[in-house]
Amino acid sequence: MRTRIFKINPENIDSESIKECASILRSGGTVAFPTETVYGLGANALDDKAIEKIFKAKGRPSDNPLILHVHSFHEIEKYAGSIPGIARTLAHFFCPGPLSMILEKKPVVPDSVTGGLPTAAFRIPSNEIAHALIEASALPIAAPSANLSGKPSTTDGSHVIDDLYGKVDAIIDAGRSEIGLESTVIDLTVTPPEILRPGGISFRELKMIIPDVRKAFAGDINTAPKSPGMKYRHYSPESPLIIVRGSVSATAGMINDLLIENPSAGVLCSDETMSLYNSENKISAGSRENPSEIASNIFNALRLFDKTGVTAIYCEYFDIGDLEEAVMNRLVKASENIVVID
Ligand code: AMP
Ligand code: MG
Repeated sequence: MRTRIFKINPENIDSESIKECASILRSGGTVAFPTETVYGLGANALDDKAIEKIFKAKGRPSDNPLILHVHSFHEIEKYAGSIPGIARTLAHFFCPGPLSMILEKKPVVPDSVTGGLPTAAFRIPSNEIAHALIEASALPIAAPSANLSGKPSTTDGSHVIDDLYGKVDAIIDAGRSEIGLESTVIDLTVTPPEILRPGGISFRELKMIIPDVRKAFAGDINTAPKSPGMKYRHYSPESPLIIVRGSVSATAGMINDLLIENPSAGVLCSDETMSLYNSENKISAGSRENPSEIASNIFNALRLFDKTGVTAIYCEYFDIGDLEEAVMNRLVKASENIVVID
């Protein structure tokens, strides 16, 4: 398949490119586009055939539902059945932004989008290119992350080209994603609401608005997942990822020992700890003083290791406050093994 690439400058959005991509979406095609979280692979959420193309391009299991991206709360009202008051309150505080709300779906939303569930996830992205594209298409856009299923999410236009060139109709390349981690998914069809995936909006922030909000994402990969997407192997780099959790010195000691056995392995660390490791292949995700920097670099770092062909990746535990849960959730899912040192 021929894939058209549109390079768009986020500081000066070319409206002609947006119009062309919107018309590809309106005619049932697939367009990968930037959002503030990660890149999304979009198609008309009301068109079964277009939705099928997303699953095919990604190799995504068809029971893993997609998030509907819309440009305003008014649009959510068109596609969601009964909307609890808390949805409006959350939207007031966090939308547009990295929050996906699960609501009852109206019959107009096809089962193919929701993996047969009676509910659907809705998000209003804040990224201006995403917003312009959704508005120009005048459609709800179903979009999972724009990566091959099982691979790390894409946080740069070049990652999308690596994974999906030749498999989709168009790719908008607008450089790096701002947040670099997917949205927080919250289920508002249950009382109290449950967080199904940690993400750009933290548990602490949600708790300020919903004091009894619950976490439903802990638990191991073999327990029956509430969010269908949680059961699949995720975010995995080519080589095995091993997380080491302990004090700074114990972590460095353990990883340096592992490097003696396996000198062609890489180390994923932070600015503060980089000098502790005896390896040529170290990548810092950023400063521990700047958790959002670390969050935004995680997927990029995993993809960089893939390109350098390391035999394993030894990774520090990032205890970085509010974003720790979302960052470590991704890394644990990507990992083969976790070593905890007392
Ligand atoms: P992604 O498209 O890669 O960001 O993944 C979307 C996430 O939202 C997956 O973990 C899905 O399982 C989850 N999701 C989407 N719709 C629903 C829904 N109706 N109920 C529960 N989880 C959902
Ligand atoms: Mg994904």
